[in-house]
Amino acid sequence: EVIEREIEGMLGLRERREKDSDLYKIANEVFDRTTKETLAYLHRRGKIEALYGVISTGKEANVFAGVDAEGNRIAVKIYRTYTTEFRRIWEYLAADPRVGYLPKDMRKLVFVWTRREFKNLQRAIKYAVRVPEPVIFRNNVLVMEFIGDELPAPRIKDVERSLEPSDFEELYDFTMGVIERLWKRGDMVHGDLSEYNILLHEGPVVIDWSQATVKRNRMSVELLRRDLRNVINYFGRKGVDVDDFDDKFRELVGV
Ligand code: ADP
Ligand code: MN
Repeated sequence: EVIEREIEGMLGLRERREKDSDLYKIANEVFDRTTKETLAYLHRRGKIEALYGVISTGKEANVFAGVDAEGNRIAVKIYRTYTTEFRRIWEYLAADPRVGYLPKDMRKLVFVWTRREFKNLQRAIKYAVRVPEPVIFRNNVLVMEFIGDELPAPRIKDVERSLEPSDFEELYDFTMGVIERLWKRGDMVHGDLSEYNILLHEGPVVIDWSQATVKRNRMSVELLRRDLRNVINYFGRKGVDVDDFDDKFRELVGV
């Protein structure tokens, strides 16, 4: 069928005939009909010329490396339309004052989740936080700037063994700066800020904005507390002279 062939083309299968490649296996396993239609649409619009590798397979999303019609490298985050994370996604979205109507059906709920991550990326950029530039989203697919050279950039976690004390200090200051700027100037919180969601590529780049939300969200203080705790604990373990959690929390929330 047309769409199947289009997807095979995007995965380079007709040329390479690598039907046993990881890319093909994972794509086959995670691309349902909606996802294939969405990818085909983005292909026709020139937003995704080809997908050529799997960067990450997660519980709620898979990230692929690709290229657009102009030859720019892209990262494509594709949310699973069937996820065991349905409950959590629903709870997070229900608490976000920016989100209006909440669809009952899981597929459509995941579309709302994808849109929100895109909006979060746009919003974070406004407050001078370095993130992958968002390109376009549609349904459960989010296209963004690829961070890396040949390979995707490593996360802090991947390279922590080769970092110097001074690197950890700089990264701590950067990360704490992000938390503060987002909260004070952007009325926003990332909600999953950790050594797993910061890539290193000519400086740190913050990724994975799906849980991020605005201060007005009744869960925002909880998310801020979580980010502060994770960041202070991690860098403290790495020997950085970190801030006191309670002081920092009080300074930001004012209680
Ligand atoms: P998850 O919810 O699965 O943690 P992430 O958004 O953190 O989703 O992406 C998973 C992994 O994919 C990241 O840890 C990172 O290695 C890689 N990744 C995500 N976005 C990009 C990007 N724009 N450029 C390069 N690699 C990326
Ligand atoms: Mn992540």
